[in-house]
Amino acid sequence: MSTHQELIERDRKVTFHASTHLRDFANGDAPGRVITGGKGIHIVDKDGREFIDGFAGLYCVNIGYGRTEVAEAIYQQALEMSYYHTYVGHSNEPQIALSEKILELAGPGMSKVYYGMSGSDANETQLKLVRYYNNVLGRPQKKKVISRQRGYHGSGLATGSLTGLKAFHDQFDLPMAGILHTEAPYYYHRAAEQEGMSEREFSAFCATKLEEMILAEGPDTIAAFIGEPVLGTGGIVPPPEGYWEAIQAVLAKYDVLLIADEVVCGFGRIGSAFGSHHYAIKPDLVTVAKGLTSAYQPLSGVIVGDRVWKVLEQGTGELGPIGHGWTYSGHALGCAAGLANLAIIEREGLTQNAAETGAYLQQKMQATFGDHPIVGQARGVGMLASLEFSVDPESRKHFDPSLKVGARMSAAALDENLIARAMPQGDILGFAPPLTTTRAEVDEIIARAERAVNKVTDQLVREGVLQTA
Ligand SMILES: *Cc1c(COP(=O)(O)O)cnc(C)c1O
Repeated sequence: MSTHQELIERDRKVTFHASTHLRDFANGDAPGRVITGGKGIHIVDKDGREFIDGFAGLYCVNIGYGRTEVAEAIYQQALEMSYYHTYVGHSNEPQIALSEKILELAGPGMSKVYYGMSGSDANETQLKLVRYYNNVLGRPQKKKVISRQRGYHGSGLATGSLTGLKAFHDQFDLPMAGILHTEAPYYYHRAAEQEGMSEREFSAFCATKLEEMILAEGPDTIAAFIGEPVLGTGGIVPPPEGYWEAIQAVLAKYDVLLIADEVVCGFGRIGSAFGSHHYAIKPDLVTVAKGLTSAYQPLSGVIVGDRVWKVLEQGTGELGPIGHGWTYSGHALGCAAGLANLAIIEREGLTQNAAETGAYLQQKMQATFGDHPIVGQARGVGMLASLEFSVDPESRKHFDPSLKVGARMSAAALDENLIARAMPQGDILGFAPPLTTTRAEVDEIIARAERAVNKVTDQLVREGVLQTA
């Protein structure tokens, strides 16, 4: 049997890891870790060291780790029928049942579900549907898509273009033409600059910025707007009051489709079946992935609303079968995992728990970090939370990026056997534990996070970055 160190050394030689410092990892200068198991909110590495996973993988393991019921559902389906394609009307039983379940949860106005394997490929599908829609309607120039700065919509060429984060663009020659970015709904960052603006005023400001962009480009060139109900990878930032109402009014005025990227918020994360329900968003198209299967299998979906569906039908009536399909669309094992996952969420009331225990999490975050000398803002909704660090919370001044405060916070949390994610842009520590998390577990997460934050604060005092803590 290999030891943990031996496995990591083998890994360094052969694996190209996602979002990793490739040279440091290959050379042994960046740490590796092999995960071997998990139960509830905990994961275990090859040395038997146990961590609280305060980020549920990549905010996807909504039901927690080690749920044998899902493994059993996948196994039973694999015994019966692992795979057959879903082209030209072929189907499988779990796909049919899962589509029914998703549409039931999505509520009125939603018509059909298309499946992929990742959030990125689902948003790729969205972009194709938006083009098809406007071509069928005889508006070939209405093609541009507006996303937000700091939005996250995937890591491909088109979906990485939708993403509004620097690291996903630089050196990849992105964003691609036809994809634009408008103001991020990031009140904390902008309110300091926009002296004295209330949240509602800032929402109106975001809507005005969007309208100005639409008018400058020409409304007949703007096809769609895409947004996450709560900004996720961009910093875990709930929208300012009135934001979605103001944005939707602009979209309606210029006949722009709304794509809600529910990859993080979907299936309970913020205490509602979908983030759109929480914020009264009425999307034309919805993207789901992550929580759909709690990552027990890769599976994503595009939920198509009535308005777009009608046009897709009209299009194929005129042009024949739609030229879009993945080999693994509607994969039976993914759909079986999705069904078992959604059954657990429903039976255990995990959406309700995300609302209730999530409220407790937010309250504890405020109580513990609200007045902390280097926390600019503690924020979140449901089981999504973040701490944004500031060298001077009064003026909201950022730390010098070279100090890598966010990464150090995450490393210090790891020393406490707590996984909390350093978000990619800014000094922000993110939390998104499984929806099964109990109050006692919240207390433990906060206690470990507090020790980590205080430890880094003390270091910064010793380094002379801060006066006193
Ligand atoms: C993770 C994520 C995606 C991309 O999903 P992948 O499965 O990583 O391709 C898209 N949108 C949002 C909001 C996400 O958080």
